[in-house]
Amino acid sequence: MVKSCQYFGTAVRVALPPLSLYVHIPWCLSKCPYCDFNSYPRPSDIPETAYVERLLWDLEQETTDLFPPRPLISVFIGGGTPNLLSGAAIARLLGGVRNLIELPADAEITLEANPGAAAAGRFSAYRQAGVNRLSIGAQSLSARHLERIARRHGPADVRSAVDQARRAGFENLNLDLMYGLPGQSLAQACRDLEETLALKPEHISYYQLSLEPDTAFYHAPPPLPDGDLLADMQLQGIEILGAQGFRPYEMSAYAAVGHRCRHNLNYWRFGDYLGIGAGAHGKSTLPVRKRIERRWKLRDPTAYLDRANRDHLIGGKQTLSEADLIAEFALNALRLPEGFDASLFERRTGLPLTGLPIGSTRPAQRAYWCQSRIVGYDQPSSDTDSSTTSFSILHRTSTAGQK
Ligand code: SF4
Repeated sequence: MVKSCQYFGTAVRVALPPLSLYVHIPWCLSKCPYCDFNSYPRPSDIPETAYVERLLWDLEQETTDLFPPRPLISVFIGGGTPNLLSGAAIARLLGGVRNLIELPADAEITLEANPGAAAAGRFSAYRQAGVNRLSIGAQSLSARHLERIARRHGPADVRSAVDQARRAGFENLNLDLMYGLPGQSLAQACRDLEETLALKPEHISYYQLSLEPDTAFYHAPPPLPDGDLLADMQLQGIEILGAQGFRPYEMSAYAAVGHRCRHNLNYWRFGDYLGIGAGAHGKSTLPVRKRIERRWKLRDPTAYLDRANRDHLIGGKQTLSEADLIAEFALNALRLPEGFDASLFERRTGLPLTGLPIGSTRPAQRAYWCQSRIVGYDQPSSDTDSSTTSFSILHRTSTAGQK
């Protein structure tokens, strides 16, 4: 779908990007000490019926702004711990989504699940409701390390969750696995990865534990591996994953052939996504209003449930400036090892490629090319404008040429 639009005073042809839906479920069994997500220990009785109806109310509002209408390519039910919700609640949610917006039969529908939080049989109900991909938060297969990061599950719960998922008919499984855990050695990190691979997932998110502000670990850090050891864990991890046919297609995402996550790829290719639920973020290209907008919902689940007016579910919104578009596009697209095709920049941002200061008279601003694709971009802060975005991301520097 291509629209000829005039964005920001520059005439370029803008293709409306693919559209995804993110649904946030904000409750967990307890709060993990490293977690900075918008998640809360579950109340004694999760108000799942009221919450699902509120999500659909939220989506109805979002779809009124969508013009022209587009089908969803993916749905991601994340959290939090979405598998605290019953199968009936997920069926009601997906049925309601289908009533409000086109959801093709081949759309990717992912649900995040934490081991040990699912009642037996719940995965079958999710599968019957239309979920076709499960993302299981394993994090480690070492009882000692799971305990050190205060997870509520053990290795047996991870294996049981994978087994239940397969028996429920899931053919597309992601396992989240962390490295750099407190007191973890290189051999232990490698063993964790090998044991995870032995569970035969189609996708692994292999990422480093980091200390985020406003978390318990940030205020009382545990003893973590040093930088050299972390680098070794990552490099050996890439080798172990590669030997089993798992290729990195983003900084921490590894997939077997044909199993890249379509939903996350849409984020990284600067696609559009609606965000519903407490604290959910969305990004929409609005050709009629000639702008690209981000909006986010109230973070507190109680406030999100209590608001009587749909407009008041919105915690804030922002129209992206040209500088925002350049920075956000680059920060997303350059997470991909292949970089991006120059035309994608124009189609997604509505800006001509000259918006990216390639060949700028300012020598500090540079784009790096490899086989006609942009694989890196430097934009150091200006002396005269301290608010200028500063970032430098570069993949495959050994093969990239500078233009
Ligand atoms: S289970 Fe996940 S979302 Fe919930 S508190 Fe732990 S890390 Fe955060």
